[in-house]
Amino acid sequence: MIAKHYAEIEARIGAACARAGRSSSEVTLIAVSKTKPVEMLSEAYEAGARDFGENKVQEILAKYPELPTDVNWHMIGHLQTNKVRQVVGKACLIHSVDSLRLAQEISKESCRQELTTDILLEVNVAEEESKFGFTLSETEAALMEISKLPHIRVCGFMTIAPFVDNPEDNRLVFKKLYDFFVDMKCKNIDNVNMNILSMGMTGDFEVAIEEGATMVRVGTGIFGAR
Ligand SMILES: *Cc1c(COP(=O)(O)O)cnc(C)c1O
Repeated sequence: MIAKHYAEIEARIGAACARAGRSSSEVTLIAVSKTKPVEMLSEAYEAGARDFGENKVQEILAKYPELPTDVNWHMIGHLQTNKVRQVVGKACLIHSVDSLRLAQEISKESCRQELTTDILLEVNVAEEESKFGFTLSETEAALMEISKLPHIRVCGFMTIAPFVDNPEDNRLVFKKLYDFFVDMKCKNIDNVNMNILSMGMTGDFEVAIEEGATMVRVGTGIFGAR
């Protein structure tokens, strides 16, 4: 079942890319495997998945040794500073950097491990009370500060759009973040490599792709309901 779902999501990504005049090689599918057992991740791996998204450090640590070494682990959930030590060096990309303090901690730990960690800044585009992330108006200043930190590289932005019944209702959210992403890219900020826009989940990934997403995070659509 997972292989079939995975192939269906890939086909829908391909169709969305075609509609938008984009190449499907521009979009990375992240299989969001939080709460799911390793056996299910292995099935997705067999179906071709190499990028897995988790929202808890504990879960990455537990699953990491159980899957082949060519898996890319994406930290997509809110990260507490006291968990940074465990996830640096394991996650290929931390999508959920939502404070200067957290970025400083990732920088410090990356320095200690003598590596550079790729990060995205999480943007709460719709300014929902319940969500983490910088508002759009805060993000440029945050980006300027965070880009000065050693041993981390800001690669772009991530957003979790509001939960809606009709994905069209999130089109403007995605468009706003894409426009901002392009603005920031044009600034050619030192030590920033603006090339990743992580947006779109099971309910709205096609609209996100039409509006410029380069990474989509799909859980339910691949692994079923949680
Ligand atoms: C759970 C989660 C997803 C996947 O959500 P689905 O609706 O199951 O596709 C994507 N992004 C983040 C940050 C998540 O926590």
